[in-house]
Amino acid sequence: MKCIHKTISLTIVCVICTAAAFIIKCPLYYVIGIPCPSCGMTRAYLSLFCGNIARAFNMHPLWWSLPFALLITIIWKFKTGNMRILKIELPVLFILFIGVYAIRMSTMFPNTPPMNFNTDCLIFSILGG
Ligand SMILES: [Zn+2]
Repeated sequence: MKCIHKTISLTIVCVICTAAAFIIKCPLYYVIGIPCPSCGMTRAYLSLFCGNIARAFNMHPLWWSLPFALLITIIWKFKTGNMRILKIELPVLFILFIGVYAIRMSTMFPNTPPMNFNTDCLIFSILGG
C-alpha cells in the first residue's frame, strides 16, 4: 500500500515537472538567461522522436544517458532487490553533465542554440527596463 502511494506521488511530481518544463522551459534560462546543464534535453528527445538522431546529439550530447541509467537501475533492482547502483550512477551522471556543460558553454555559448543567451530573461527585464 505504501509503495502505491509512493508511485502515485512520484507520478504526480513527474507530470507537474513535465508540464512546468513545457510552460517555463528552463528556470535558470528564464530567470538569469544562462542555459543549465540539461538545457536542450527536451529538444533532443523531440528530435529523436522525429527520427533525427544527429539533431538530438546536437541539442544535447547526453540524451541517451538518462534512459540508459534508468534501464541499468531497473535491471539492477530486479537482480539484487536494492537501489545501491544509484550511489554509482548519480555521481557519474553528475560529472558527465558538468563536463559536457563546460564544453558546450565554452564552444556554443552565447550564440548557438540551445546554449544561447536569453536576452528576454527576468533579470534583464527588471534591470534593463
Ligand atoms: Zn536548462
